[in-house]
Amino acid sequence: MTATMDRVTPFENERIKTFTDGGDVAAMEAALAEVKRGLGRSYPLVVDGQRVQTRKRIHSRNPAVPSEIVGETASASGEDAQRAVDAAERAFASWRLAPAGRRASVLFRSAALLRERRFLYDALLVYEVGKSWPEADADVAEAIDFLEFYGREMLRYAQPQPVTPIEGERNELVYIPLGVGVVIPPWNFAAAIPIGMTSAAIVAGNTVVLKPSSDAAIVAAWFVDLMHEAGLPAGVLNYLPGSGSEIGDLVVGHPKVRFISFTGSKEVGLHINDLAAKPQRGQRWIKRVVAEMGGKDAIIVAADADLDAAVEGVAASAFGFQGQKCSACSRAIVEEPIYDAFLDKLKARVASIVVGDPRNRETVMGPVINAQALESISRYIEVGKREGRLICGGRRAEGEGYFLEPTVIADVAPDATIAQEEIFGPLLAVIKAKSFDDAMTVANGTEFGLTGSVYTTDEKKIERARDEFFVGNLYFNRKSTGAMVGAHPFGGFNMSGTDSKAGGRDYLLLYLQAKSMSRKV
Ligand code: NAP
Ligand code: MG
Repeated sequence: MTATMDRVTPFENERIKTFTDGGDVAAMEAALAEVKRGLGRSYPLVVDGQRVQTRKRIHSRNPAVPSEIVGETASASGEDAQRAVDAAERAFASWRLAPAGRRASVLFRSAALLRERRFLYDALLVYEVGKSWPEADADVAEAIDFLEFYGREMLRYAQPQPVTPIEGERNELVYIPLGVGVVIPPWNFAAAIPIGMTSAAIVAGNTVVLKPSSDAAIVAAWFVDLMHEAGLPAGVLNYLPGSGSEIGDLVVGHPKVRFISFTGSKEVGLHINDLAAKPQRGQRWIKRVVAEMGGKDAIIVAADADLDAAVEGVAASAFGFQGQKCSACSRAIVEEPIYDAFLDKLKARVASIVVGDPRNRETVMGPVINAQALESISRYIEVGKREGRLICGGRRAEGEGYFLEPTVIADVAPDATIAQEEIFGPLLAVIKAKSFDDAMTVANGTEFGLTGSVYTTDEKKIERARDEFFVGNLYFNRKSTGAMVGAHPFGGFNMSGTDSKAGGRDYLLLYLQAKSMSRKV
């Protein structure tokens, strides 16, 4: 299987729209109107290319206006799940042999279609998960990047791999797919994560059962149709919406499933890892588990930092998409000499954040994802008020939707609940550090290790953090969010996951196994 890379251009990141351009604004307004007209549509399961309706339905709501149903999907039963795995197993027999170039071209065509429909996807994310316009566009741009990047990566892995020559033998090593995979994404990067995980598994020659997040199942349904439009054969990608707690164990524990690719919370990730480790009757392999999980990400602000830049970076990282990013800054660790000045500036900066319906272009912070999240974050805010000093926010913001004010709590102890547990909302804990050494100890003092950032002008502190700050993605003098495909391969240490480095050169290996062949000549 030789593939040609000479016909593809080198990978480049898609530009993210800022919506300062009048044409983009008009296109987005039109897309929002079009998505609104299609609200409430019904999306069946897709198994073996067939659409299957179920009696039970899942409603995806607009978190800014919860009475508004964005769409409804089927809700798979155990039997549907069984049929989806069977379909994926049948499709694997031929898809595994499809040339890498053909598989990659499905991704490239999908990227082209997604680019054509970019504003519609942006608009859908505004409605389905409450993203502001630029946050929605960054999500869709990242999805396009994953398709372009993994397509090229597969062509690279399909090229002859270096092995040491031995006289009298012709030796080679080829990468082959694993089999049937279950892909389980979260809702927060509702385009990028499901599209990235699914396309990586598929381009590597595997077949997939995609169980979307119940909070973002419509965008996943759009994508499954788009992949088929781009030429994906029936059965390679099966769409199986359903409650994770109802059908999750069945698909994860299924003996014909070879691997599980999960992104989500630590609790669910550990449960999946545990279940997948138990061999089931008829199972012939050790299941592979890719599990990318939560974070408790910190930004260290050193005494010598550019204070304005640090305040900007912390505010953007803590409150972008309402703090609902695994890479969000949830702890600002600030050296004592500048602590008060930092808090004053941060308070003023946070006051400028516009909270509201993300359909409006001016909105910076939309709603949190659902009623349960609103309640859980509100509980943490109450705990935080006892654990520290409320600087700003702390209440629900106006509107029918799940709106919360951006909230800052200062003087938080490093071992406080709000400094240890992932909250996944617009709540920032500020911790005072006696020294840079102390800051580093506090930063590393949780079970997580996903992203981190350091604001400093001191080369020695940078060196120190390079050696000591134990996170999968470390940044200097910039925000802790906004990893770019190819430039910042993404994945965390410790309880943040298996360090899969999505968007990096090692990622496709997670969906492949190597076969070594030697022929006497
Ligand atoms: P979640 O509650 O763990 O859900 C993730 C997915 O797992 C959903 O599709 C969910 O389905 C499914 N699920 C739930 N129970 C299951 C079970 N028993 N078996 C199989 N699947 C099951 O996470 P979330 O709220 O969607 O996302 C937020 C979390 O994701 C945060 O912790 C965040 O840090 C993490 N995250 C990590 C990264 C990273 O790269 N490290 C990136 C993004 C997000 P239902 O929707 O039907 O429950
Ligand atoms: Mg929703």
